[in-house]
Amino acid sequence: MVREQLQAEGITDPAVLAAMADVPRHRFVPRVLEHRAYEACALPIGYGQTISQPFMVGLMTALLHLRGHERVLEIGTGSGYQAAVLSRLAREVVTIERVAPLARRAAETLATLGCANVLVLPADGAEGVPDHAPYDGIMVTACAPALPESLPPQLGEGGFLLVPVTTPDGEQVLYRYRRQGERLEVAESVPCRFVALRRGTEDDDGAAA
Ligand code: SAH
Repeated sequence: MVREQLQAEGITDPAVLAAMADVPRHRFVPRVLEHRAYEACALPIGYGQTISQPFMVGLMTALLHLRGHERVLEIGTGSGYQAAVLSRLAREVVTIERVAPLARRAAETLATLGCANVLVLPADGAEGVPDHAPYDGIMVTACAPALPESLPPQLGEGGFLLVPVTTPDGEQVLYRYRRQGERLEVAESVPCRFVALRRGTEDDDGAAA
C-alpha cells in the first residue's frame, strides 16, 4: 500500500509513510472486508459511511505538515483510521463524529491500538470544536457545501485547514487554507471524493437528532 499507492502517487514525507506503514488499516474496517483493507479504494464502514482510500488519508496527512508538537482537529472520525495516522504525527488529536455508534467503535479501536492522544467526541462537528481551539491543523473528512465560516477562527497562526467542498458543477475539490495573521490564504486545491458533511447527530437506529 505504501509503495504502490502512496509513494507511486507522489507522497514523499517519510514520517507520513512510516505512520501509514505502522497503523493496521485492517483493524478499522468491518471483519468481512479485512482482506480488502489495503486496496486502493474507500470501503463501507456502516451507517452509509466509508473509510477514505489510503491515498487520500496520506495526502491529507502530508498537507498538514505535522512535526509532532501540534494539536489537530479532525471532523468526521468515521472508522478512526485517519485519527490513528494523525496520532502518530501530532501531539494531540481531537476528532468528532456525528454517528454515535461509529464514534464509539472508533474510540474502542483507537484505545485497543494504544492511541492514547486521541479524543473522540460523539457530536455534530460541522461548526468545529471551539472548546479545544486553537488547532495547529484542522481537517474535514466529509464534503461541505462551502467552507464552514466557524472553522478559520479555530485555527492557530500558520495552521492549515483542509476541507473538501462541492463545486457548482457537482464535483468535489479539497481546499487547503493557511492562516496568516487575520488572512486565510488558499494554498492548494485537488479533486477528491468524500461523503457529505451533514448536520445533527445519529444514534444506533440511524435516528437523526
Ligand atoms: N476519516 C474517516 C472517514 C470519514 S467518512 C476515517 O478515517 O475512517 C466521513 C465521516 O464524517 C462519516 O463517518 C460521517 O458520519 C462524518 N460526518 C459527516 N458530517 C459530520 C458532522 N457534521 N460532524 C461530525 N461528523 C460528521
